[in-house]
Amino acid sequence: MRIRKLPEGIINRIAAGEVLERPASAVKELVENSIDAGSTQIDVAFRGGGKALIRVTDNGMGMAPDEMVLALERHATSKLSDDELINITTLGFRGEALPSIASVSRFAIVSRAAGSPDAFALLSEAGKISGPTPARLSQGTEIEIRDLFYATPARLKFLKTDKGEVAEVVDVMRRLALAYPAIGFSLATEEKQWLNVPPAETPKARVAHIMGQEFMANSLAVQHANDDMRVEGFISLPTFARGSSTMQFAFVNGRPVRDKLVSGAIRGAYADVLPPGRFPSLVLFIDCAPTRVDVNVHPAKTEVRFRDSGFVRGLIISAIRRALASTGIKPDTTKSVAAFAAFNAEATHSLPSLRQAAFAMNMPLQGLAENAVLPTAIDYPLGAARAQLHDTYIVSQTAGGFILVDQHAAHERIVYEKLKRERAAQGVVVQALLVPQVVELDASSAAIIESLRDELALAGLKVESFGQTSIIVREVPAALSSANISNLLKAVVDDANDLKTIATVDVRLNHILATLACHYSVRAGRTLRLDEMNALLREMEVTPNSGQCNHGRPTFIALEMKDIERLFGRS
Ligand code: ADP
Ligand code: MG
Repeated sequence: MRIRKLPEGIINRIAAGEVLERPASAVKELVENSIDAGSTQIDVAFRGGGKALIRVTDNGMGMAPDEMVLALERHATSKLSDDELINITTLGFRGEALPSIASVSRFAIVSRAAGSPDAFALLSEAGKISGPTPARLSQGTEIEIRDLFYATPARLKFLKTDKGEVAEVVDVMRRLALAYPAIGFSLATEEKQWLNVPPAETPKARVAHIMGQEFMANSLAVQHANDDMRVEGFISLPTFARGSSTMQFAFVNGRPVRDKLVSGAIRGAYADVLPPGRFPSLVLFIDCAPTRVDVNVHPAKTEVRFRDSGFVRGLIISAIRRALASTGIKPDTTKSVAAFAAFNAEATHSLPSLRQAAFAMNMPLQGLAENAVLPTAIDYPLGAARAQLHDTYIVSQTAGGFILVDQHAAHERIVYEKLKRERAAQGVVVQALLVPQVVELDASSAAIIESLRDELALAGLKVESFGQTSIIVREVPAALSSANISNLLKAVVDDANDLKTIATVDVRLNHILATLACHYSVRAGRTLRLDEMNALLREMEVTPNSGQCNHGRPTFIALEMKDIERLFGRS
């Protein structure tokens, strides 16, 4: 066997295998080039799932004919002024996208350099170039890719259906549109116009355009900075979560990324308010000095490597947690909106931050539960309890309307936050049982409890196995002293599967506490007296995260007078 140097065409096709996973990757590379060229409007046509035709038209600085020829050469770039690869400020820098794409498609560029009266065209078929020849174009650059991957049939086989490929390109375009609000973008397939956003005045306006009004009404602004790093954006309330992460968009220095570190930090930040398998929607912009991050990790440039990953993770987590905590209570509008179909999307019923409201009224922040019914209760943020419906919901009149509280969800959050507070302070406060209780289970349940023994002890539940099928309980969390202990253990067993998916010790313990709290809390179906209801409302007001239960469901919904009046056509 003799070693030989590979011909240029094959090298390009090998590179294409990495840079171009699918048609959407070609769109990403072309649109990134248009962005780097200073365009203010970028239009994309996408036919036959991207295999038949991809056309990207921009109004950027364009290329002179000799530059067009160079652009199709491997590792030719106008962008990399820094030979150390440390200070990269453009989206492109590898100089391999165009030659890679051209090597596996029928490829055409028409471009007119800014200030030049003439445009030129260059064609390439399977790497064979012809031109440049004079052409017509009013400004910028237009690149057409036909029959993508016809030269690499192996790749063709791995593509999704046309519909699936369209979903991918829509995702790519959304990400770039979020990252570059000042640029107008459009995307059309033979079926329809998927995206058409004019240049936006503010980043927020663009986020609203892409994410929708419902997201905006149910999201919180994030803004957090440390040293030379900044995290900004919008995150959804836990109650607005979804079953997948498709509506999570993260950017590092304006570059859309799908990064494990970032998505892990997001999960960590929400761990306390969302169960595993639920994902908040969000748009997060992480900005730092280019020297802090290595973007040259992968040919597709969607992963990055931070020099100090622990610092970045910490910053993202505290940015999100702060935003979640600072809101106090902002109810999810979608639930009430869906329930009362007559509402308009712009009707948002956010109460002021409870903390702010409490301070404004000089309310003591602790010990409210004892002096529950006060004549001025209606002035409290969550108002004065008036009635209970179906032994499940509390109706409370507030200064500006009324709220409906899910008594179980609310109580669950209160108990959970209390247990967590205790654990953070000096450990969960426990109460020893005068007579240890023996709980009969089945063998597999008993084994599960036994395997969790150390963690249960940290959660305040001291247990020992007793034979094959029984458990002796010696101590319980004081906050749960009146709980039915046998049911408590069964709830832990039922939850053990969920627990398996969690690796972090801290998150596991909180999850166990949440399970205990959920189980112990006032069941739906229990009749409450007015003073009990008011006590619950007052505790909600001073409990962090009390806008949602531990499963991410809202604990209450609010209707303002103007909304009620609209329902009755009075305004
Ligand atoms: P890179 O973006 O990494 O430099 P590419 O292969 O994507 O490599 O592009 C090669 C070069 O072609 C770019 O550096 C740029 O000079 C030029 N180019 C590509 N697309 C455009 C465009 N739409 N407008 C102006 N110049 C472009
Ligand atoms: Mg490029």
